[in-house]
Amino acid sequence: MTHDFVHESRPGRVVFAVGARTRLPEEIDRLGLRRVMVVSTPDQANHAAELTSPLGDRIADLHAHAARHVPVPVAEKAVTRSREIGADGCIAIGGGSAIGLAKAIAKDTGLPIIAVPTTYAGSEMTPIWGLTDAERKTTGRDPRVLPSTVVYDPELTLTLPGKLSVTSGMNALAHSAEALYAPDGSPIVALMAAESARALADALPRVVADPRDIDARSDALYGAWLAGSVLGATTMSLHHKLCHILGGTFDLPHAETHTAVLPQVLAFNLPAAPQARAALESAFGAEPAGHLFHLAGSLGAEMSLKALGMPEDGVKTVVAQALSAPYANPRPVTGADLEHILGNALAGVAPV
Ligand code: NAD
Repeated sequence: MTHDFVHESRPGRVVFAVGARTRLPEEIDRLGLRRVMVVSTPDQANHAAELTSPLGDRIADLHAHAARHVPVPVAEKAVTRSREIGADGCIAIGGGSAIGLAKAIAKDTGLPIIAVPTTYAGSEMTPIWGLTDAERKTTGRDPRVLPSTVVYDPELTLTLPGKLSVTSGMNALAHSAEALYAPDGSPIVALMAAESARALADALPRVVADPRDIDARSDALYGAWLAGSVLGATTMSLHHKLCHILGGTFDLPHAETHTAVLPQVLAFNLPAAPQARAALESAFGAEPAGHLFHLAGSLGAEMSLKALGMPEDGVKTVVAQALSAPYANPRPVTGADLEHILGNALAGVAPV
């Protein structure tokens, strides 16, 4: 086999352990932070306050205003607040929404981020930011928004409801699957992505069977760490493109949309990506697209975009947008292909 790749390692420190949250004080000291702004969503405010209380007066403010898809006014208020209090760093506690808000602050101010993820979305491992104005979501890459330190504590995911754990896990699986056929993948990325897919697919049924099973939670978060890492290292393809359009156009929920779309896109793409297909087959011990469709469905995930809120006549809008801008994909995509993929996802039928 002839190898031909570019691999770039990104800076960043990862602390992963059951109970790792107790190491936050030393991680803050390591970065020399004295006036930290803590960021969370409103519903995780109490949790964030409790988690950071051992940090005492090193916490300058708890800003519990993170919202889905980082609306521009929410980001602007957070940036202003960070300047008012003279913050020298941010701790983001929560899922992609909280980490996304910390990234918006870092993008404007350069403040370092300590991320404490509580879902499997993976944003903590990427230099990708996202902001949403009245019309659309814009994303970009900036090394300043890559968290300096990520503290993974599986105990913090014990409260993530079973159904959300499944869809969040499918969101992570989507990063790993598309990294396996990314145009800028590398042998290390392929190893991490395959291991991530194996760990997540194995852990999710155990998480649903017992959401307080710490071994299952640890395996799922480990898979999510790898998934976030390969998301940050590669260029995503058709699946992420469609989910981005669907989320932005119809305000569909993020992880749930990924869950309904992923099996359909894999059924289309994998015949043109034999190495990715072989890696996923070996990770799941089954045909990947059908396996993921049945796995997520059997664990309680909604597999129909219509049930998630997509209007039936919305397919044409998404097809037009998906055809209007080029993106990487292992297989050329026509309008008819997109109608087929989206039609199946809309109805929630098994991929063919
Ligand atoms: P989220 O952060 O909005 O979390 C979903 C809900 O679950 C929220 O209400 C949150 O408060 C709650 N929650 C989180 N952790 C919990 C826990 N342990 N127990 C109970 N409740 C909990 O959703 P998400 O799926 O984590 O992230 C989605 C967002 O992240 C999207 O905006 C997406 O675009 C973005 N994202 C960005 C990147 C990137 O690299 N920039 C990567 C993945 C996702």
